[in-house]
Amino acid sequence: MGMLVLECKPGPVFTALNRIPDWFLQIHSAPLGADSVLDVAAIFPFIAHFIEDAEVFWRNPVEARLGSGIWTELDEQGNQHQLEAYALQYQNSRILLLVDLTASFDARHHVYQRAREIALAQERLVMSLQRQQRKLQLQIQGLLARDESLHAIAERVRQHASAVMVCRPDGSVELLNQALMDIYPVSGNNGTRAEHSLLKQWVNEAEALYPEIHRVIETGASWEGEFESSAGSDKKWVRLLIGPVLDQEQRVTHLVCVANDISGLREPAIELERVTDYDFTTQLPNRRHFWRVLTRAIDECRASGEKLVLLYLDVDHFKRINDSLDHQAGDLLLGTLSSRLRSNIKKTDFIAHLGGDEFALMLRTSQRTLDLLPVAERLLKVVRQPLVVDGHNVSITASLGIACFPEHGNDAVGLMKRADLAMYHAKQRGRDQHLMFSRSLDEAFFNRTVIQKDLGNALSGGELRLVYQPQICLGANSFLRLEALLRWHHPVRGLISPAVFVPVAEESDLINQIGNWVLEEACRQARQFMDRNIQVVMSVNVSARQLRAGDFVQRVQQVLADTGLDPSQLELEVTETTLLDNMETRAESLQQLQELGVSIALDDFGSGFSSLNYLKNLPVDRLKIDQVFIQEIPHDEESKTITASVVKLAHELHMTVVAEGVETWDQLRFLQGIGCDYVQGFLLFRPLPPEEIGAVFASLASLRFDS
Ligand code: C2E
Ligand code: MG
Ligand code: MG
Repeated sequence: MGMLVLECKPGPVFTALNRIPDWFLQIHSAPLGADSVLDVAAIFPFIAHFIEDAEVFWRNPVEARLGSGIWTELDEQGNQHQLEAYALQYQNSRILLLVDLTASFDARHHVYQRAREIALAQERLVMSLQRQQRKLQLQIQGLLARDESLHAIAERVRQHASAVMVCRPDGSVELLNQALMDIYPVSGNNGTRAEHSLLKQWVNEAEALYPEIHRVIETGASWEGEFESSAGSDKKWVRLLIGPVLDQEQRVTHLVCVANDISGLREPAIELERVTDYDFTTQLPNRRHFWRVLTRAIDECRASGEKLVLLYLDVDHFKRINDSLDHQAGDLLLGTLSSRLRSNIKKTDFIAHLGGDEFALMLRTSQRTLDLLPVAERLLKVVRQPLVVDGHNVSITASLGIACFPEHGNDAVGLMKRADLAMYHAKQRGRDQHLMFSRSLDEAFFNRTVIQKDLGNALSGGELRLVYQPQICLGANSFLRLEALLRWHHPVRGLISPAVFVPVAEESDLINQIGNWVLEEACRQARQFMDRNIQVVMSVNVSARQLRAGDFVQRVQQVLADTGLDPSQLELEVTETTLLDNMETRAESLQQLQELGVSIALDDFGSGFSSLNYLKNLPVDRLKIDQVFIQEIPHDEESKTITASVVKLAHELHMTVVAEGVETWDQLRFLQGIGCDYVQGFLLFRPLPPEEIGAVFASLASLRFDS
């Protein structure tokens, strides 16, 4: 077989301990120095990384030997040689063996072929397990959606062979079955308490292989994968499916988790992967291999100052395509796709198949700026090229997320997360496109998910406050009108604007809880001002969902009764869009409120549909002209005309008018000229904490706007 035995000395330099075999000389005929020193990494660039691994191994040999896996070299006659390297320790010497396996390669190839068949068979088993898990999860989801009792669901899954756990998004367990306790032995007899941390454990364990898991779950999608999990003192390979149950507002109410212990299946597969490190379907490096290469490349780039670009490609609607083909055709499609991608990148770039329909590409460059656009376009274009699979024309597209080291992430997991997030946004924007990560994506994502998560605590944690912005009467008035505006002091992110979090709260029932709190707090505060002889009318913003809730009128009545505030001192602000969905019912509620003595203001007037016609039929006392008009005064003639005619019309309908967003004296003078009743804006007062309102009230009499 002819092997070359080398000893490694610090450097690392390698000296040959035996006669240089012929095959080596056929590949590398350059004369050796007298001391037979070889620069192995330079002669065989393919194993440069392996040699680094070998150095780690020699420092701390945990196994008998470390193998490089087989690689191919061409000799000077153009013949192929299949080579393999092994690192081992022999009597304190660091030994590197280089073996030419060409002769036995055919035989080995056979073994690989066989291994591949076994792996495929296993893959099929995993696929069937996957189908079973999905079916079970859908069943449970259906039961939950139909409000089946947890007890009844528990009864149904009690003896199921798959482990089942249903929990809340925070991990608190609602039910679990015997199979789960078989995998994760539970101490104590009521069981559920010990499992409260299981969801968190799973996410942490899976994250190292699947950094996207947080994002996937937080966005209400289902996630599945295979990873190693600690169960008591054991380690087990688990296949886990987490499927969220959404309510009508698309908020996650439960997570249905289905798990199976696949250690028996995984171990031989891992052994195979360890030998090959390649994914069988696509013949590309697999996820494990990819992580190793990426982690090392980042370390190298950190040292050398090179840049590294990570592209994360995910086929659009792959599931749909895959379901319409059979399993093998799906594999074929992935195989074709991977060879197309591979032939469109440079030899020095790295591509891996991460599993399913996901690919990752890694590019390295010493250039300061790398023009990624053509690369990304080219990759998407080759994906788009029509494909024939099994006689069917299949057209596919993909979404591509891009993240760069070091700008976007400082380690492999961070970088992958960012590339995944960019990919997710590319999909959100309509798929078949690429997107580079940017901080704003992080923020957009934060708005949706973190806000949704944290807003619940905001209320109970006392993080919400109200500030009060005076609305100043341009004529004489002894009452001070105040608009209550919400502020969120987030413990980490600082002050968050209601323009950001109110729309998120409005997507769910949270707006009702928050709205109720605002109403109570504003009325309580108004009452307190009155007790201190500060005469106020308090204006409170009401969102569409609050008004839609059947008991809103009663609630207002109750709050007035509880706080002892006179109804005439409360005003509710609604927007046009709030009224649009069901004008008649809304008008009826407003009417009832008016009958209580509460006044109604139409907020942001002019920004929406602004049909002046329907105003006649609405029980509204005041109009608030939207800031966009006021801010164009006095330069924009149209805004001036609109504002003036709105004031006129409102007066004809016996409504008073508030101008919002008044920032300059010119604006104020114009508004005064057209007979506008109230002004609200930074020119006079910003929204203020309650302590400062007393002083504003005291200064009212001295405020004069005579032109
Ligand atoms: P809005 O009801 O139209 O409130 C007026 C907004 O204009 C406030 O923004 C206020 O700070 C701002 N503003 C006042 N004067 C000026 C000015 O001179 N220039 C400029 N550029 N802006 C001015 P804020 O407090 O950020 O609130 C934004 C929106 O959030 C509010 O618009 C309202 O729709 C909503 N919101 C605030 N508090 C609540 C609440 O308690 N419940 C509900 N449902 N929505 C609320
Ligand atoms: Mg308002
Ligand atoms: Mg407004």
